[in-house]
Amino acid sequence: REEADVSPSGAAAIEDIATRHLVQPWPTSGSIGAEARGLIQSGEGIYVTDHTGRRLIDGPAGMWCVNVGHRRPELAQVLYDQAMDLSYNSPWYTTNAPSAVLAERLAGHAPEGMNHVFYTTGGSSAVETALRFMQFYNNVRGRPEKKLIVSREGAYHGSTYLSASLNGRPRDHDWMDSASQLVLKLSSPNPFRRPSGVSVEAFCDGLVEEFRTLIATTGAERIGAFVAEPIQASGGVIVPPGDYLKRMRALCTEHDILYISDEVVTAFGRLGQVFASDDVFGIKPDMITFAKGVTSGYFPLGGVMIASRLFSDLRQSNHSDAMFAHGLTYSSHPIGCAVALKNLDILEDGLLEQARTISGHFQSRLKALEALPLVGEVRGLGLMACIECVADRVSNNPLTLDLEVGKRIDKHCQEMGLLVRPLINMCVMSPPLTISENQIDEMADILDRSIRLTQDELVREGLWKG
Ligand code: PLP
Repeated sequence: REEADVSPSGAAAIEDIATRHLVQPWPTSGSIGAEARGLIQSGEGIYVTDHTGRRLIDGPAGMWCVNVGHRRPELAQVLYDQAMDLSYNSPWYTTNAPSAVLAERLAGHAPEGMNHVFYTTGGSSAVETALRFMQFYNNVRGRPEKKLIVSREGAYHGSTYLSASLNGRPRDHDWMDSASQLVLKLSSPNPFRRPSGVSVEAFCDGLVEEFRTLIATTGAERIGAFVAEPIQASGGVIVPPGDYLKRMRALCTEHDILYISDEVVTAFGRLGQVFASDDVFGIKPDMITFAKGVTSGYFPLGGVMIASRLFSDLRQSNHSDAMFAHGLTYSSHPIGCAVALKNLDILEDGLLEQARTISGHFQSRLKALEALPLVGEVRGLGLMACIECVADRVSNNPLTLDLEVGKRIDKHCQEMGLLVRPLINMCVMSPPLTISENQIDEMADILDRSIRLTQDELVREGLWKG
């Protein structure tokens, strides 16, 4: 096999090819179709190595996905073995063993009464599938007007048209069209941004009341689904207050609104369980979407867990010939499902428990960064956390966009051997679950030094008072 040349001169050639031929995700029009991003050469455990040979802790685990770590020989072997056994079969009229066995294993981890899975190619297609299933379900049940979807500010649910229509961060919509007529938005359950003088309990009451009012003014007969990440991930690791999720679930049950829990990030060990909805937050959704950690990023796969009662409802309808006209060429992909089975073996064989054990140290080491004046809040749960920087700790004003504080911190971190995910004024951390206590210490020390350097830099440039 010819090895790719990733020496510095080879890297320059790759950069040139990428600039001329690649369209990167989430580009801006000023550089679209003419942009190369940092070249990563290899990965091992919690580390990736760039083209200069510099080893970096993979702080975001790729995109919240490399949960069992890089370069796992057992996963590579399964990819090879399954490709040699059966690389593909059409799910339109055949089935394969890995997808069926995986479905049974996933049902064993899902909340009671959730026994079925529909596989997709990733998270966006999982959310899209859940929404289209809700539409189909209500059509067949003779209530075609019950289709509106309730989402929340700060949410991220994907990049296909309908899933993207649910996104709640301003820049997701600034220049993009969406099916906005189908979507209703509630506030983000972000306690850090609650109005001043309002207690967390009162803030939570207000959020629940907002949903109750929305249902009353819109009419429950027009609302098909409520879609929520248990923890808003890309919105800045927003951990909802108190029993918010349980109370939102109760309102959905009361008004026959399907609760779709988007666990694309929170499932497969990120919060120490395979699924977090019931095991961490005590809620039983009607559907759970997942992707990313299901294969730890070794193969694109996603899916929707669906409560069995929804199938009974459909089977009891008067339309036994109504077709759920939805399926992807790569639904139930045998290689993806075989990799997911091996990935689940690794999680069940001690890694979930290890993630639960180590998360206390992870959260407390990062929380200590709140001592730095630039840091407004460090929040998180399990092995996901966000460091939010503010200009003023009294008003909690976010630092303005043009300061790009996240990117400044990321640049210093990279020089010291840590990759972070910069999000405007925030840095998001979600390392592989295999991270050790010493590695967490190293990560936290690098973050501490990088934030201090950024503080000095901002003061020197007259951009921040300090
Ligand atoms: N849902 C959530 C909560 C996500 O964080 C993401 C991606 O980050 C998606 C859905 C979309 O997943 P994908 O990028 O695999 O389509």
